[in-house]
Amino acid sequence: MTQYAEVIVDVPTMQTNTPYTYVIPAEFQEMLQPGMRVVVPFGNGGRKVQGVVWQLIDQVEDATVTLKAIDTVMDPAPVLDAELMQLADWLAKTTYAFTITCLQTMLPNALKANYEKWVTPTASLPEETRQVLFGQQDRLLWDDDVAPAVVKQLMRLAKQQQVTVSYAVQNKGHVKTVTMVKPALTPAELQAARASLRKGALKQEQLLTYLIDHSKPVQQTVLEKQLGLSASTIKTGEANGWLSRSQAEVYRDPFQSAVTTTKALQLNPDQQTAVDAINQATDDQQSTPFLLQGVTGSGKTEVYLQTIANTLAQGKQALMLVPEISLTPQIVGRVRGRFGRQVAVLHSGLSAGERFDEWRRISRGEARVVVGARSAVFAPIKNLGVIIVDEEHEASYKQEDNPRYHARDVALWRGRYHHCPVVLGSATPSLESRARAQKQRYQRLLLPTRANQQALPEVSVVDMTEELKHHKESNFSTALMTALKDRLERGEQSLLMLNRRGFSSFVMCRDCGFVLTCPNCDISLTLHMDTKTMKCHYCGHEEPIPHRCPNCKSRHIRYYGTGTQKVEAELHELLPEARVIRMDVDTTRRKGAHERLLKQFGAHQADILLGTQMIAKGLDFPDVTLVGVLNADTALGLPDFRASERTFQLLTQVSGRAGRAKKAGEVVIQTYNPDHYAIQLAKRQDYEQFFVREMHLRHRGNYPPYYFAVKLTVSDETESVAATAIHQIVQQLQTTLSPNAIMLGPTPGAIARINKRYYYQLVIKYKQEPQLQTALFKLLSQAQRKSRSGLQIAIDNNPMSFM
Ligand code: ADP
Ligand code: ZN
Ligand code: ZN
Repeated sequence: MTQYAEVIVDVPTMQTNTPYTYVIPAEFQEMLQPGMRVVVPFGNGGRKVQGVVWQLIDQVEDATVTLKAIDTVMDPAPVLDAELMQLADWLAKTTYAFTITCLQTMLPNALKANYEKWVTPTASLPEETRQVLFGQQDRLLWDDDVAPAVVKQLMRLAKQQQVTVSYAVQNKGHVKTVTMVKPALTPAELQAARASLRKGALKQEQLLTYLIDHSKPVQQTVLEKQLGLSASTIKTGEANGWLSRSQAEVYRDPFQSAVTTTKALQLNPDQQTAVDAINQATDDQQSTPFLLQGVTGSGKTEVYLQTIANTLAQGKQALMLVPEISLTPQIVGRVRGRFGRQVAVLHSGLSAGERFDEWRRISRGEARVVVGARSAVFAPIKNLGVIIVDEEHEASYKQEDNPRYHARDVALWRGRYHHCPVVLGSATPSLESRARAQKQRYQRLLLPTRANQQALPEVSVVDMTEELKHHKESNFSTALMTALKDRLERGEQSLLMLNRRGFSSFVMCRDCGFVLTCPNCDISLTLHMDTKTMKCHYCGHEEPIPHRCPNCKSRHIRYYGTGTQKVEAELHELLPEARVIRMDVDTTRRKGAHERLLKQFGAHQADILLGTQMIAKGLDFPDVTLVGVLNADTALGLPDFRASERTFQLLTQVSGRAGRAKKAGEVVIQTYNPDHYAIQLAKRQDYEQFFVREMHLRHRGNYPPYYFAVKLTVSDETESVAATAIHQIVQQLQTTLSPNAIMLGPTPGAIARINKRYYYQLVIKYKQEPQLQTALFKLLSQAQRKSRSGLQIAIDNNPMSFM
């Protein structure tokens, strides 16, 4: 008989990264299972902490050790299944994170509960005291609102064992219920009741008539509305024994708008080849990764939808990941249009309750298609038939906090576990994925033309240095302005993209050159016109816009640079008749704002959609025939090995928004680097040439995908402590690693100080270092011991950038 449970406790330190053994109390022995959350005493003080049962064991090695017992069990059924537990173990090892952090990452927020303290009287508590403290209740919530005098009394009583204190989980992910009404008598009995009603009791008569005709339960609010009854009439009905009321569980509905049902399209030959290959893998239970490389508008989504349909026909479930910013109602609508209520959606816009409901629908197998952003890769799907990663090159698939996982890697892991294909789709695959296809590790599927036979849009590149020689300073070149005017006249729509949010809208003094910077970070503050404040994008620091220079007191303090708001203002000046919708972090902050703005644009209530990168992906508006990129260069200037790749991808993606339907599209790219290969090849939309060119450079510089990389960052409030620590780490690693490993740094972080902490970093590039993982875990546990002094160390395996 099982007597012990190994529990991963919620104390994220290195020392507790392995399971602790607890005795299972008799009352839980039959029901306890791995994957359930429990409350256990931990450490010398017996502090109550939450944990997850890792596994059950029959015997302990050393029977003489007295083990603590599990306090209580938090879940009636496991919240994590065997697959996800195994995945957590793998994640912890590959991302250098704590197992408990990985386990928690997989759970919806609603299940990351806090504790509540409850007080219960014991038999020895005198009756008068019980009356005073508890009244009619059999227990009392001991929270912050309890008066200090009462707290003192409770503490005394607890010491005298006249009350006991227990801990319960404050369950935020409560189940939403509605009241249901159904007849409690037979129709004949109800008819008798109706016959004996006093004259004029019209409402009660109406209610009885309804109950006689309807034996099925009905939601009380629906019934009230339908018959125009009040709640009290229904109460009377219950009191008279005519009907019974009960609570039924309901799901919150995260879909705000209805969708139109669609049918499978007739595939073109390239799409058919792709669908056949993927379906074959699903049917044969092959975990082949596919790289679906299709130009923008080539109908990748239709391929996804038809492979999902095949998966459902096989009785299996499907998972489709999309980047958060393209999780627009458009893509969700397309999946829902095909699969209706079988679709569950997971994204950051959901409330904790909505997310919890979607999670439970998936876990119970009621939702068979899951669409979601990065963390949806952990959806509790039991029987996967296909996994799709749309726009697989997107940087947002990598989580920047612990655990620093890449959703694509997790998808590939799950594909192997479930023996199902993983489809990585993109018009501009990451170099890593394209290189793996080159080595036959992924099977490449090509969609080289647009689905509707429309040509790819004509792209022109405008040299902004030339432009500035002839004009006063403006965000718009003559070519772009002409094209915009042309669209206005023809009643067609345009997209305008401004790279990066609030791009360098900083404040500078014209007299002394002073730039307003953040007091906590080494970075200038960004101007936000909507809130009329200066904000730090790193730590959130906010202050009013200055009217005088804080340095020389001059009044000549001015705004520089270009933000979406400034561009919008200039657009209104140049094209007063144009209707403009601005889409950036500021205008989409409120729930549903993103969806509303896109809907307005889709309904042609505006001529121009002006936005940041968030408009680059996933949008499919037939009337858009012009795409303008205001500043193609911002990413190119960054000291990052992926700078060209990012720029190429972004330009190709945004260009792909033009001319997707019957009308041909045009793209105007404004740049200060017109001859840069990333821009020239984006102009030709020649991904393959870009791949060849970029691979050469990566090879020469020993960069991924030729080399693996890991980035180490240390930070401390005292600069010298951080600097010393990173140098010690370098020395320690030099003795462990082979001479083939390349160390970049140590250097101060790209922003040396963030939120009052100083950052130093080191990048290790390597091909094969069997000792590396152990060495890094050793570093982590050493840092753990020192961390009380504030030094922090972060390890990022396969970082997205070296900055
Ligand atoms: P991608 O995801 O590759 O950018 P989409 O899936 O959005 O491309 O397809 C672009 C357009 O082509 C959409 O409007 C879609 O409905 C249409 N389309 C896709 N496949 C077909 C097909 N086989 N026949 C007709 N139209 C198609
Ligand atoms: Zn000044
Ligand atoms: Zn700051």
